[in-house]
Amino acid sequence: MKHSLFLSLCGLFLIMGLVGCGSSSTPVSEAAPTRKPFTFSNTVLSLTFDDGDADNYDVRSVLAENNLHATFYIISGFIGIDGYMTKDQLRGLYEDGNEIGGHTRDHMKLTEVRGADLQYQVCQNRQDLVSLGFDPVSFAYPYGQYDDEAKQAVKDCGFMNARLVTHGPEVIPPQDLYGLRAMPYIVKDTQVDKIQRYVKGVEKDGGGWAILTFHHVCDQCDQYSITPEDFIKFAKWLHLQQQHGLVIKTIGEVLESGTTGTVQP
Ligand SMILES: [Zn+2]
Repeated sequence: MKHSLFLSLCGLFLIMGLVGCGSSSTPVSEAAPTRKPFTFSNTVLSLTFDDGDADNYDVRSVLAENNLHATFYIISGFIGIDGYMTKDQLRGLYEDGNEIGGHTRDHMKLTEVRGADLQYQVCQNRQDLVSLGFDPVSFAYPYGQYDDEAKQAVKDCGFMNARLVTHGPEVIPPQDLYGLRAMPYIVKDTQVDKIQRYVKGVEKDGGGWAILTFHHVCDQCDQYSITPEDFIKFAKWLHLQQQHGLVIKTIGEVLESGTTGTVQP
């Protein structure tokens, strides 16, 4: 506060033609202090991708180059079919340290399937991923749709947490492991600086867990998409923010142990 008051007084003096703020012979542009970088002290970020779209594989190298790991929620019945990642691509992502989570077997709204069908959509999804060599602990409800029965199925099938698509930021530890609150999801009109503002906004509001939800990575191929150029730009920005205190982890990493401490706004 004192600093900004000093600057505004200086500004006033300069307007009035007075001297005495810093050296009188120094031009204003040189005297201006360098802007301090935005720093994070209480924010954790998770990058998540829904559906296992084929174009998601393009971010593999971008993530690796920028020291980032993401969580990919996979519809196991769609693995390897046209438009979706193959099992080898998923293994590649996993080997890099990314997390493979579940997103039902056939992308059903879990509020619209009951009983054995609900169990199948969730348990078979997990089983499919286990049989491919993954250790799926995280789940995302298709369309963010869930109710008590759906939540119970996700628990019973062995998933340890489940993500929604709204109501973020979340806190650590979360109030409800089976209702992880996410930031507004990324659509094709979401500019990179807007995503950056989401992340900074969490820190400015006292900190928290910002869970970002992406779908396609392509040039405007879908309403739910970000362009490869914008994703690269955002990934590079995240890489830099890690040096300014931003913690970036997969969903499973955030929740797996008590070592992450607490992040409460
Ligand atoms: Zn989905």
